[in-house]
Amino acid sequence: MTAEGVCDEAWDGAAIHAATALLPSGWANDVRVSIGPDGRVADVATGVAAQPGDHRAAALLPAPSNLHSHTFQRAMAGLSEARGPSERDSFWTWRAIMYRFLDVLTPDEIEAIAAFAFLEMQEAGFSAVAEFHYLHHQPGGTPYADLGELSARMAAAAVQTGIGLTLLPVHYAQGGVDGRPLAGGQLRFGNGLDRFLALHARAREVLRDLPADTGLGTAPHSLRAVGAVDLAALAQAAEGPFHMHIAEQEKEIEETLAVFGARPMEWLLDNHDVDQRWCLIHCTHMTAPETRALAATGAVAGLCPVTEANLGDGIFNGADYLEAGGRFGIGSDSNIRIAVAEELRQLEYSQRLRDRARVVLAGLGQSAGRNLYERALAGGARALGRDSGAIAPGLFADLVAIDPARDGLPGLSGDRLLDGFVFAGSNRSVTDLWSAGRHAVRAGRHVARDAIADRYAAAVGAILGRI
Ligand code: ZN
Repeated sequence: MTAEGVCDEAWDGAAIHAATALLPSGWANDVRVSIGPDGRVADVATGVAAQPGDHRAAALLPAPSNLHSHTFQRAMAGLSEARGPSERDSFWTWRAIMYRFLDVLTPDEIEAIAAFAFLEMQEAGFSAVAEFHYLHHQPGGTPYADLGELSARMAAAAVQTGIGLTLLPVHYAQGGVDGRPLAGGQLRFGNGLDRFLALHARAREVLRDLPADTGLGTAPHSLRAVGAVDLAALAQAAEGPFHMHIAEQEKEIEETLAVFGARPMEWLLDNHDVDQRWCLIHCTHMTAPETRALAATGAVAGLCPVTEANLGDGIFNGADYLEAGGRFGIGSDSNIRIAVAEELRQLEYSQRLRDRARVVLAGLGQSAGRNLYERALAGGARALGRDSGAIAPGLFADLVAIDPARDGLPGLSGDRLLDGFVFAGSNRSVTDLWSAGRHAVRAGRHVARDAIADRYAAAVGAILGRI
């Protein structure tokens, strides 16, 4: 591996032999997957023996994409869990801590944190990430000499780790639904529409030399931060994935009702042609008609169950949404904890606690682990606009090898293997990870871990000395 990172690592041409693998047709044994020099699956054979030089896997799965992340928040883990002195602790008191935190970060630190978060995503079994990137300017809001400075830092972090990056430059223009001006930490996010479009064009240039699986989308932050006129302009002009936070907090519902005369999801579905290009993050507070209407659009609900639990957002109506055929994927969002299995577990457990029932998010006789995992695969691929989500010739080789025996779960096979991983496993089960054929995690450890973890520890040390 070169100093520049995993993306420059030569394709090793090796195939993978798995004792068992989850294919589009279901589970198969003795599966051999070949990867082409373009990072796509070249061939899948079942019932065959391993050949000399094959990478060996206990169980091979398609690796999901992480559809929502703000990498800089990874370095806040542990800094926001003390209860505030006077008011009810809430999303809004957390946000105040987050704004103070981000206001001290330098570009080098932002890159170091992003690289470490991307590394952890791969060690957790994510092959790709949609980075919802809203930290654009210097503290106080003055742009860097290069408008794309911090977009370039995200790209550099992706190159260092080899993760598949879909960058989502975020438009953030106002401090609330009522159009109030930006203040404090928000100044680092802010642009008028013209400058945002210039920043977006610069981000496209920054990504030019990254691997072919790199993507670019557009993200109006939310109805809090982007007015109706700008949102309409972006929805019309933007190509590729289109992501937006919506209906995360009850206060946001109240403010949107006051200004627009409608709830956020209701207003959005009435005023925009929401379709499969859209990924709507959180969707926590929806009425029953909104839930059914969103499911019918083909859009992806971007669920971030661990973060939503940490922030006390509320419980997504998963049972009715899935019943209506709704699509979803999972995101690590605040990155307080990065783990594929824990996101899916938290999603299912939130439904069980609300309904006082056991398996909720599965059809009759169906495995919850399998159902949740496969739906998250499909939703994540769609949300990133990425040719992935299954082990099949022509798709990117986004693959994760797991061995639940490493989590004390020996002897499981078929759907029970996924149920064991999702409900009783952890990142320890992840042995290998390929992002579009780049073999970034081997024997449970990212190949660039030492250097990236050292830079991260130095950055966190410096930041904690300043806040
Ligand atoms: Zn978010």
